[in-house]
Amino acid sequence: MMHQAYIGLGANLGDRFQQCQQAIDLLRTHAVVTAVAPCYETDPIPGTEGGAFLNGVLKIATDKAPEPLLLLLQEVEIQLGRERAMRRKRAIRWGARTMDLDLLFFDEKVIRTRNLVVPHPELEKRRFVLQPLADLAPDLLHPTLQKTVKQLLVECSDPGQVVYFGKFT
Ligand code: AMP
Repeated sequence: MMHQAYIGLGANLGDRFQQCQQAIDLLRTHAVVTAVAPCYETDPIPGTEGGAFLNGVLKIATDKAPEPLLLLLQEVEIQLGRERAMRRKRAIRWGARTMDLDLLFFDEKVIRTRNLVVPHPELEKRRFVLQPLADLAPDLLHPTLQKTVKQLLVECSDPGQVVYFGKFT
């Protein structure tokens, strides 16, 4: 059975655009990418090491279940040389990264396992996720908040700037 999923991507270290584009190209070898949102340059989450992020969102069609899909996302992160900024030799929670891939939505499923929470927690608090998501799926309903992505974006109080950067291919 085919599933529809939305994937968030972000990078704030290295050649950010190139890494996002490579992540999309790698995912295309394992899933059908059916839509790609524009790329935005966004303020880092306060407390994050490093500078501005580039963020985007993909829609994919896949026959993978959620957990195997998460493993695929983690493999792609590793292939892109994901590194976290280190502070006092410990990886910090919201570190700078060469590639971060998040599973935002999986059909209209609600999942809460040890490794996976879907819809992605705090998605509604992040303009850098909601803006590209709204470009692809304004009417998508958040299954627990019972609001559309467009409503969540209008109501979002995240002061972070989200500025159009370019188009992925
Ligand atoms: P992060 O620092 O954002 O890359 O967090 C990665 C961790 O979040 C991994 O250990 C995942 O198991 C966990 N996680 C929980 N829910 C999700 C989700 N919807 N998408 C991606 N990672 C998730």
